[in-house]
Amino acid sequence: MPIRKVAVAALLAACAIGPGEQRAERTAYVNGQIFDGERFAPGAIVVEGGRIIDAAASTTAQRVDLGGGYVIPPFCEAHNHNLGDENQNTETIAQYLYEGIFYVGILSNLPALTDPVRHTYNTPASVDVTFANGPLTATGGHPIRIRELFLDRGFYPGFTRETLPGQGYVVIDNEADLERQWPAITALRPDIIKIILISSEEFARRRDDREFFGAKGLDPALVPSIVERAHGAGLRVFAHIDTAHDFHVAVDAGVDVIAHMGGFNAPTHLDPEDVRIAAERHIPVITTAALLERRRERLSVDAFAALQAAQIENLRLMQGAGVTLVVGSDEPRATSSFETDYLRTLNLFSNAELLRMWSMDCSAALFPERRLGHLLPGYEASFLVLGADPLADFEATENITLRVKQGRALEVTPPRDEHH
Ligand SMILES: [Zn+2]
Repeated sequence: MPIRKVAVAALLAACAIGPGEQRAERTAYVNGQIFDGERFAPGAIVVEGGRIIDAAASTTAQRVDLGGGYVIPPFCEAHNHNLGDENQNTETIAQYLYEGIFYVGILSNLPALTDPVRHTYNTPASVDVTFANGPLTATGGHPIRIRELFLDRGFYPGFTRETLPGQGYVVIDNEADLERQWPAITALRPDIIKIILISSEEFARRRDDREFFGAKGLDPALVPSIVERAHGAGLRVFAHIDTAHDFHVAVDAGVDVIAHMGGFNAPTHLDPEDVRIAAERHIPVITTAALLERRRERLSVDAFAALQAAQIENLRLMQGAGVTLVVGSDEPRATSSFETDYLRTLNLFSNAELLRMWSMDCSAALFPERRLGHLLPGYEASFLVLGADPLADFEATENITLRVKQGRALEVTPPRDEHH
């Protein structure tokens, strides 16, 4: 059900505060169904100065009638790489906002390419982005191979193979490397530190083998000191993983977020004890489960079924243990709605769980220092209004009738062409 146009016009007019006027406008969004993480209840949201406040709707003259619309926290993409340079930047921001995705984790980017467009993010009218910069890996590790491939395809203007290190990735083979490179890492002001673990149980075997170029990561023995250093600098650590052993190394070293659920190259079975610890320490795990779709065409039906069976088993294990699962796609040609669509096909999660994973739990994983993801007094006044009940039909998440970010209604246009 669309909101009343007259009310929106009044809202926009109310935002025009005259020069010298400091008083924050107060607006009541009334006649909504408000999501509390479990269910919807009739209510109003009163907003002042970009925040939800504890006040009655009757205390303000500015009203927006939501017409019984369903109010939820904004969506979020915990893991992607499609922002952070000039390529399709405006279009991709518009796509995210159109889909109601206000928060994005860019879990690797080249800071020199990000600098010219940095001002286009983290404003009330744009998406809020957490940038990792180049991830920490070992000699020959992921993502060096893919970075060099993309360089050859012209994706990194101004760069050469020699200038990629430090920007596209950072090679850390030992404690001395870490000591020497750390000042340069922090000088580029990453929002978080991303580390690469791939088949860490085979680290010694793969280390000097060119066959594994791009299919290996850090020495697991270095991870605790990296985490210690990052935490000392006030930076959280996000770990790329692929196997159950990588998951173990990450949890054991005290990382803050696990950036994949693993099991994309071969079926892997998470250790229930590691999963229990991840739940106890509130370490969110970014699903990126739809990455399996890339395997479907290349694998036999049986091999794909084995990968997916292990994936479902791991998701069930984490769900049962109370691990915070958050939606991230790691799919640069798409957004987290692609991941949510995939997760729905697995029939593991209720619509309320999916909403939490895609909104409140995801934004908290990316921006734990901010008050995001709850429609409560003290939280940022950012929310979506849906024209139908997403608990009854999840497709309602595509029927967004109003987007409010930091107290301001966003104007969006439908994407003109599908660039991804
Ligand atoms: Zn990624």
